[in-house]
Amino acid sequence: MSEKPQAAPSAAASAPRFEKLSAVKGMNDILPPESAQWEWLEDKVRQLMARHAYRNIRTPIVEPTPLFVRGLGEVTDIVEKEMYSFEDKLNGEALTLRPENTAGVVRAVAEHSMLYDGGKRLYYMGPMFRHERPQRGRYRQFHQIGAEALGFPGAEVDAELILLANALWQELGLKDVRLELNSLGQPAERKAHRAALIAHFEQHEALLDEDARRRLHSNPLRILDTKNPAMREVVESAPRLIDFLGEASLAHFNTVRGILDACGVAYTINPRLVRGMDYYNLTVFEFITESLGSQGTICGGGRYDYLIEQIGGKAAPAVGWALGVERVLELLREQAPAQAPAPDAYAIVPDAAALPVVLKTLVQLRALGVSVQMHAGAAESWGSMKSQFKKADASGARHALIFGGDELARGEVTVKSLRDGAGAQQARALGDLPQWAITLQSQN
Ligand code: ATP
Ligand code: MG
Repeated sequence: MSEKPQAAPSAAASAPRFEKLSAVKGMNDILPPESAQWEWLEDKVRQLMARHAYRNIRTPIVEPTPLFVRGLGEVTDIVEKEMYSFEDKLNGEALTLRPENTAGVVRAVAEHSMLYDGGKRLYYMGPMFRHERPQRGRYRQFHQIGAEALGFPGAEVDAELILLANALWQELGLKDVRLELNSLGQPAERKAHRAALIAHFEQHEALLDEDARRRLHSNPLRILDTKNPAMREVVESAPRLIDFLGEASLAHFNTVRGILDACGVAYTINPRLVRGMDYYNLTVFEFITESLGSQGTICGGGRYDYLIEQIGGKAAPAVGWALGVERVLELLREQAPAQAPAPDAYAIVPDAAALPVVLKTLVQLRALGVSVQMHAGAAESWGSMKSQFKKADASGARHALIFGGDELARGEVTVKSLRDGAGAQQARALGDLPQWAITLQSQN
């Protein structure tokens, strides 16, 4: 709940009027109280990552364009049509606002030789940029949280990452999320499958849409990722990559499955799950919900053993995932509306002359962990007791701290309960503040 807006000091009537500016289309302001939900989610993620020994990495929001062109693949939705690319005005360098963070993490890991002393487990959170048609669950600036494990070849780390995401859904109380799993095998296996796939689509070329026809010879696997319902049948009858896997790839896949089975994590195998970037091999997975309409994928990831080499680093295996924060939060809101955060206490100040003592006391309270919202005067008046109590109520605070003149003269403040047992009040000595401050905190 917010206080009633107060009049700003008014500009001269003759001042020029400016056109109102708004945010870029598809890019959102995140305002209170909703921002509290973001912070809550981010806190949960930090704790969970620490428990899994994943460490935070922060890479620049702008990267050289070739990083994404080479890393994600030229014939991908992102590189073909979604990137915010521009030329550096000063030196003409081709730059791009990051559409995802895996390529940036991989660049940083290679650039700083981070794998010299063994594998690294990393996580990130932050904004990504894609020029897509804005709609529910799809924005031009959106936020991802991602986890990446680099330098580990084994299927146990694929499973660890899936279990990590799954633990996050449990921690957040998310329901109705299901896991889809597939294996993309290794390049040689994909090559054999690719030939069969092209043959199949050529046979049914009349059923392909324009995008698919264009990709038929450059990137036929991506056709399986189509969102066009008219192509469902031709895609469903296509040869399955999983049938082209050799022994080693199947063993890797089965190890992941065995761990998930043992941990009681349910999944379905989706042979058409290919993911949007070229860099994946072996395990790929998505967490999907039916509750968000067509933007139902909340998290996607997989293994990308060839990406580091592809962007010029020393070859090393890797696996990771990224989740869409907006989609996860929307799912959470659907299950339980967000609670507006409230301070522990609201400071009521009958006489503005007491402000120095009040603020000094609030400094002490806040240092002890109590959250306090202070009364602030309006332009026209300081505010009656009645209007201050109204604002205290609107703030959602559980207590009012009344800094009355008589109390202060005795070295005291009155603590009045505004919620449970509303009305009960007690005089508290400012000298004993550390003793009673703790009773104001909402967790007590
Ligand atoms: P989609 O198929 O929905 O376009 P994607 O395969 O492009 O997703 P990824 O690149 O795998 O998505 O990104 C991981 C997650 O980030 C997605 O599962 C989704 O939750 C989120 N995400 C991707 N693009 C957007 C967007 N434009 N707006 C909001 N969230 C997004
Ligand atoms: Mg996309």
